[in-house]
Amino acid sequence: MLYVITAILVLDFVLGRVLSVLNASYEHLPIPEEICDIYNEERHSKQVSYAKVNRQLSWLTNGLSLLIMLLMLYLGGFRWIDLWVHDITSEVVNPIWRDIMMAVCYFSLLELAESVISIPISVYRTFVVEQRFGFNTTTPTTFTLDWLKSTLLQLLLISVVLAAVVGVYDSIPDWFWLVSWAVVAVISVFVSYFYSQLIVPLFNKQTPLPQGELRDAIEKLAAQAGFHLTDIYVMDSSKRTTHANAYFAGFGKKRRIVLYDTLIEQLSTDEIVAVLAHEIGHSRHNHTAKAMATGLAQQLLMFVLLGLALRYNLLAGAIGCEPSFHVNMFLFSILYEPLSLLLSLLGNYVSRKNEYEADAFARSNGLAQSLVVALKKLSANSLSNPNPHPAFVFFYYSHPTLVQRIRALSNTYK
Ligand SMILES: [Zn+2]
Repeated sequence: MLYVITAILVLDFVLGRVLSVLNASYEHLPIPEEICDIYNEERHSKQVSYAKVNRQLSWLTNGLSLLIMLLMLYLGGFRWIDLWVHDITSEVVNPIWRDIMMAVCYFSLLELAESVISIPISVYRTFVVEQRFGFNTTTPTTFTLDWLKSTLLQLLLISVVLAAVVGVYDSIPDWFWLVSWAVVAVISVFVSYFYSQLIVPLFNKQTPLPQGELRDAIEKLAAQAGFHLTDIYVMDSSKRTTHANAYFAGFGKKRRIVLYDTLIEQLSTDEIVAVLAHEIGHSRHNHTAKAMATGLAQQLLMFVLLGLALRYNLLAGAIGCEPSFHVNMFLFSILYEPLSLLLSLLGNYVSRKNEYEADAFARSNGLAQSLVVALKKLSANSLSNPNPHPAFVFFYYSHPTLVQRIRALSNTYK
């Protein structure tokens, strides 16, 4: 079993590296005709060096994480952590509480270690790479607070989910898969419903879009598209980066449109309206609801498989540990990787299809040309790759490439 785990980790690394090399091999192809105007020679060479530094960083991150995982597996690091959590919970009398505490300590320690180890790379990425290419606007204070808040949030979520799942496993093992899934489903729906109220305010300020030309134009679009407009907010994303975006958050009564302030800065009113028409297109086609349903179905599959893995107890022994929920679950998470990759391929495929549908919705509202200009600007401003390798796109892209989208949009507006 240890060899299977090793093979999965190594193959995952190799796959990532092969795709990255393939992608780099397309770097020097001529810029496609449709986007020649935004990628002049200077911008193209800047983009190539930006892609190169990011590629080197991903070699470093992935190589380092593979190395640490293998060392931990073969030198008994995970076993040592397991013994430590057994030790610190040895006074707890109630067996269910003890299992919960062991699982929470085990995964919190792993999460904390990962979070600390990634600090130097993250500092380098933000203050050296993003800085050099003019994207970074983060101050060291914001960076430190972000790290603290996101780590604490992760630890809180891990603790809540584990407490629920381990509690269910110890109390009703036969129905573990179903009840745990239901509990986690409720937690995920709750978090995404209140995302803008609970999570975003920890990191960003959101202010309602003031009355004026932009708001009028958006309201006009909503009326024309027969879309019931809820709240429109502007988020101060410029305090971290110049990269721009817009999105829909929440659903039902809590649904809101969020525009990055950087988007408002970089695009004209017509272009922002076109981007929003695309977002309304997603909503019109129920993409968010479908994505959530698919996500829940995938979680159910995962819990069924985890239930089987726990029942047959094949895993913990592979790294010399006593059988326990937390060690079994940890090893299961590695074994689940290949399936998770397959599911993400399917997810990306569906997502790319959805993007075309959302673009087509903007087109049907007469906004194809503005959307093309907006996409070009956003892509050029964030130095996106104009020539990604098709295999790289197939594996990782949740959106079609810029050229693909322009071609699809141009089919009718020309
Ligand atoms: Zn989209």
